[in-house]
Amino acid sequence: MSFSQLSLSKTLIQALPNTIKTPTAIQTLAIPELISGHDVLALAKTGSGKTLAYGLPIIEALKQNQDHQALVLVPTRELAAQVCDAINAVAKPQSLSALCLCGGVDKELQQQALAKQPNILVATTGRLIDLIKHGLSLSQVHYLVLDEADRLLDMGFWPDVQTIADQTSPKRQTALFSATFSDTLRQQAKPLMSAPKELVADQENSTNSDIAETLYLVNKGSKTKALITLIEQQAAKQILVFIGAKENADSLTKKLNKAKITTAALHGNKSQAEREEALEQFKSGQSQVLIATDLLARGIHIDHLPVVINFELPMHAETYIHRVGRTARAGANGIAMSLVCHGETDALNAIRSLTQRELPLQDLEGFPVTDKPSTGESKRAPRDKKANRRTQNKKSIKQFQRKPKAR
Ligand code: ADP
Ligand code: MG
Repeated sequence: MSFSQLSLSKTLIQALPNTIKTPTAIQTLAIPELISGHDVLALAKTGSGKTLAYGLPIIEALKQNQDHQALVLVPTRELAAQVCDAINAVAKPQSLSALCLCGGVDKELQQQALAKQPNILVATTGRLIDLIKHGLSLSQVHYLVLDEADRLLDMGFWPDVQTIADQTSPKRQTALFSATFSDTLRQQAKPLMSAPKELVADQENSTNSDIAETLYLVNKGSKTKALITLIEQQAAKQILVFIGAKENADSLTKKLNKAKITTAALHGNKSQAEREEALEQFKSGQSQVLIATDLLARGIHIDHLPVVINFELPMHAETYIHRVGRTARAGANGIAMSLVCHGETDALNAIRSLTQRELPLQDLEGFPVTDKPSTGESKRAPRDKKANRRTQNKKSIKQFQRKPKAR
């Protein structure tokens, strides 16, 4: 399959970065459907090229009709910036432009940029609602994309998504893209779409089967030392470390820097400028380690990121898929390691059942486990129980594919 077989115009294909030669599975599936005008519900693994799967058809359509606008909604500011850049790389040569609209940036500057009628808006919901209240009209939006749709739902943005969708053209085309999918999301999406085509990218062709996952059982109190050891053993250029609570990110960062590992932190308690700086330093190699909360788990692409470490397992099992999916993107190999203590057994089991992988626990040399497993009496916080219930209601991509009816 080549891009020229997907009803894309020559000038558009020529504008693709030269690293992009053949379409990925989800691009092959989604591009023709979107170009022919269908609503689309697309499920594909992390790093499988979803941005261009919706970006190219949008650009193609806008080339035909410059009065129309497209709107892409994403859950985080970092993702908005990344998607906007990826789209602009292809849109600019077609004399089309994308504008990033998210919080933390001066609103008046955004309003000035909006006055120039950008063809594509890439936005987080909060800032967009704010701009609508200040007079922004979305009536020319004929293409609406919800990227990382499940995350938009999980983060509580759905009411905003609905408000925004109501402001767009009633004749619009709608596409939903995600790497994980739940029944709740499917239900919530229904009223926003008309007869959507459900597309699931072929498991075999998906790009992140090359992640080597290792899970180490360690004492809760040894995690910092174990992390330092793992980082030193890896000696990788870049290591992304996921942490659960943003409150712990800064102190862990300090401890790593003290151990002479250049480390930056990215979480929601930082200003937008600090967040951008931390990500930039990490991407450019100035810091070897980036400690991040799940703010960064979805969608963010870091070129050739070799190693992801979970300092603790995420509360929601599907977040694990997203976290480890930051590595081994676009066909590369990757390593994902997790530090697990006895208290995280429930989270681990939820991940095992969602991914249908064994994920055995190993010992980490030099870190004997002396903590005792908790007794049958559950000491879990109620929030955890809720997370597990939610997780049980979710489907993995595999389950999805086994059910031909779901297509
Ligand atoms: P997803 O949204 O599915 O997680 P992205 O759209 O962020 O994935 O793409 C991940 C990486 O793969 C990006 O660097 C992108 O440029 C690259 N990419 C996208 N499409 C292709 C392709 N057809 N061939 C090679 N690389 C691609
Ligand atoms: Mg994406």
